[in-house]
Amino acid sequence: MTHSGLNIAIIGAGMGGLTAAAALRRAGITVTVYEQARQFTRLGAGIQIGCNAMHVLRRLGLEARLRAQTFYPRSWNNRDGRTGEGLFDMIFGEQAEDKYGAPYLLAHRGDLHAALASLVPADDLRLNHRLVGLTPLASGRVRLAFADGGSAEADAVVGADGVNSVVRHALFGASEPRFAGRIAYRTVFPAQLLQGVAIDDCVKWWGEDRHIVMYPVKPDRSEVYFVTSQPEPAFSAESWSAEGDVDVLRAAFDGFHPIVRGVLAACPSVHKRTLVDRDPLQHWGEGTVVLLGDSCHPMTPYMAQGAAMAIEDAAILARCLEGIERAGIAPALARYVATRQARTAQVQLTSRQNRWGKGATDTDWVYSYNAWTAPLAPTPA
Ligand SMILES: Cc1cc2nc3c(=O)[nH]c(=O)nc-3n(C[C@H](O)[C@H](O)[C@H](O)COP(=O)(O)OP(=O)(O)OC[C@H]3O[C@@H](n4cnc5c(N)ncnc54)[C@H](O)[C@@H]3O)c2cc1C
Repeated sequence: MTHSGLNIAIIGAGMGGLTAAAALRRAGITVTVYEQARQFTRLGAGIQIGCNAMHVLRRLGLEARLRAQTFYPRSWNNRDGRTGEGLFDMIFGEQAEDKYGAPYLLAHRGDLHAALASLVPADDLRLNHRLVGLTPLASGRVRLAFADGGSAEADAVVGADGVNSVVRHALFGASEPRFAGRIAYRTVFPAQLLQGVAIDDCVKWWGEDRHIVMYPVKPDRSEVYFVTSQPEPAFSAESWSAEGDVDVLRAAFDGFHPIVRGVLAACPSVHKRTLVDRDPLQHWGEGTVVLLGDSCHPMTPYMAQGAAMAIEDAAILARCLEGIERAGIAPALARYVATRQARTAQVQLTSRQNRWGKGATDTDWVYSYNAWTAPLAPTPA
């Protein structure tokens, strides 16, 4: 691999930051990832890895590992929450793999994160580094300031620091995300606790103002995950993530189908978090500083595409920067933004409607996208 001589700082070692690090390294670019957490924690949650995200992860070398650790669903079934009547069966399995060229997988979030982390050498990752400020230097480089008083410099900065991004704040000032007025309860637990309650490969139970999605996250179905979305007008956006009360959750789905009630009765504990998104942003960066993932396009989780969009961003970013010298960074980043904005905006706005899969749904435009081969936008003048 030839080295470009560029040195890029990535802020945040979430799904987006780690994928960007792996993709940029593959393009011969030196990266350093700065993450505020002291260590990675294995959040009790599942994650759907769309075929479009799998195209990216395949080229990064993770396909075999992920196939071995995740569940391969025949479909994402959508049912009426009370009667169980089928509304729309979104077919995955081999049929979708043939059609879209990559599998649709259901993972434990910790397994996907660990797989991505395995692509980034420990020397390129700085834990316990909370970014607090950015200063452009006369040299064209950027100085990073960290909470512990330390600093670093880079040729460019990628803000992959999530929905409350400090990088976005430094570029464009403070602006709160839109609180959807809803919260999500979620957990992963051993399937043996279900005591015979059988769930579909992946199923969303639709109620009038709330829903629950459930699926296995291991190839042998040994662990099961669910995530809800339900109204919670009083929940404050500050209490970002907290232990939930399982009895409150069970009561909220009281009138639902016996399978839903059976799953909720079996689950030992839950976490809850607020659901937020943003309207599509017009500006994702300035000069040699740019945003990626939830920092620039946070969305409600109703298409299970937030991380997939961050993963796609990473591949496009690497393609735009490959072979570029320092003077070309700003135009390359502008090209990345120009390539990504329309697609991520469409997913954000479609996801917000919460109609994905409720009835017949055209899924091709989402899952057939391959970020390694999709056309790049012209570099803006
Ligand atoms: C309930 C729910 C279910 C979801 N299900 C799916 C799904 O099935 N499929 C899917 O594709 N997406 C799903 N998503 C969306 C997905 O979780 C996000 O889109 C994705 O995690 C965004 O990745 P990111 O790397 O941009 O941000 P994050 O994952 O938020 O990572 C940001 C990282 O930056 C770090 N950081 C923050 N500030 C600083 C700082 N100042 N200095 C240093 N580090 C910092 C954080 O500690 C964190 O590690 C779901 C989301 C929710 C809420």
